[in-house]
Amino acid sequence: MDCVFCKIIAGEIPSKKLYEDDMVYAFYDIEPAAPVHFLVVPKEHVLESCAQVQEEHAALIGHIFHVIAQLARQLDLAGGYRVVTNCGADAGQTVQHLHFHVLGGGPLGAMA
Ligand code: AMP
Ligand code: ZN
Repeated sequence: MDCVFCKIIAGEIPSKKLYEDDMVYAFYDIEPAAPVHFLVVPKEHVLESCAQVQEEHAALIGHIFHVIAQLARQLDLAGGYRVVTNCGADAGQTVQHLHFHVLGGGPLGAMA
């Protein structure tokens, strides 16, 4: 599959890995938009975006948010952070593999 995140997960494209388990992979964004900016993605390319989420994905989505909370603690984002998932063209989604941005490490600008 021609998907940059699938290639990262498979180790075909290098990444700065933060965390990995059987369900998710977390790595730093290559173009950080904040002092700390990482992505958490499901390992399986099951969903292109949150627009495809069904009830059956509840455990996966819940797990992703648990991983985000743990990584935020680990990276000392005690001052706060933002979780963003871009969904579709108007949101500027460029990679069609569900992913959650985590931004922090200082005051963030206002949201669009
Ligand atoms: P989105 O606009 O939500 O689809 O964001 C995709 C994100 O993936 C962008 O913030 C990119 O900087 C990031 N990205 C693209 N390629 C890579 C890569 N090889 N390693 C790390 N992050 C990447
Ligand atoms: Zn993929």
